[in-house]
Amino acid sequence: MIQIVSEMPWECGKGWWPLIEKVAAAIDTFNAAHPETPVEVSQIKQKFGGLRIYHYNAPEDLRLLIDEAVAASWHTCEKCGSTTDVTTNLEGYRLTLCPDCRKEIKPRVITKRKITRHHHEKDNVNINELGQASVS
Ligand SMILES: [Zn+2]
Repeated sequence: MIQIVSEMPWECGKGWWPLIEKVAAAIDTFNAAHPETPVEVSQIKQKFGGLRIYHYNAPEDLRLLIDEAVAASWHTCEKCGSTTDVTTNLEGYRLTLCPDCRKEIKPRVITKRKITRHHHEKDNVNINELGQASVS
């Protein structure tokens, strides 16, 4: 079974989908032409404010394409795709957003108890909400 990267879950906001679409199309085309040595992608997600594409067995040209998309994510609003005045920061957790989208994100009140019990969640907050909000 060859994985279809275009159809796997992309665990990030819609603003980055165009970046991923380009990579996914290139990998899917490559895999269709090279079924014996496919590129494997285990996960596509946002982490610490940046796009992560976990992959294996990619030839150099595809690795460069993946690196380009990952680098571009740091300058692309994860919610709307804007590249104007995009920054990566927010109290307590990191998201890469334009000024307008950042206004819509309410900083979450994090208690000490939550930090202790759900420490790993604090950098990944609101991404599902971003994705759902942008679907409508
Ligand atoms: Zn935005």
